[in-house]
Amino acid sequence: MNISFDLDSTIIPNGNEFETEKRSRIAKLVGIEEIRAGTPALIYDLQHLGHKIHIYTTSFRTKLKIRLTLRFYGIKVDRIVNQTENQRVLKSRNINASKHPLSFGFELHIDDSKGVEIEGKQYNFKTIIVNPVDKNWIKKIKNGIQLLEAT
Ligand SMILES: [Mg+2]
Repeated sequence: MNISFDLDSTIIPNGNEFETEKRSRIAKLVGIEEIRAGTPALIYDLQHLGHKIHIYTTSFRTKLKIRLTLRFYGIKVDRIVNQTENQRVLKSRNINASKHPLSFGFELHIDDSKGVEIEGKQYNFKTIIVNPVDKNWIKKIKNGIQLLEAT
């Protein structure tokens, strides 16, 4: 399955909402961001189950910056869609949502936003919404994917 992940408050913290992976002082100096504890293993596991993992964010970070941060933690993703590309594509398709994963071929989108969940119902795309403070977020994602695959 083509699965996209949101960044902010899903795998990159906005404050102290969740525990993060270890990051060296040098990494911090060169602008590597913190990521949620367990993210590298989760993405690795999903990729080894045959899923393609993508990033879909409404942030204006450059794709290079996002890729470098992920690489620091050993994460390789397929496609990265940032807000620059998102706005361009959704505008050209006349889609009035903040996110529309199907426009990029993403079959399931993982996000923290209830608004994105509502858009999923309106535009008929699949989401798994994880609360930033949910300690069982990895289980929720893995179970959610299994359930989708069974249907
Ligand atoms: Mg978010």
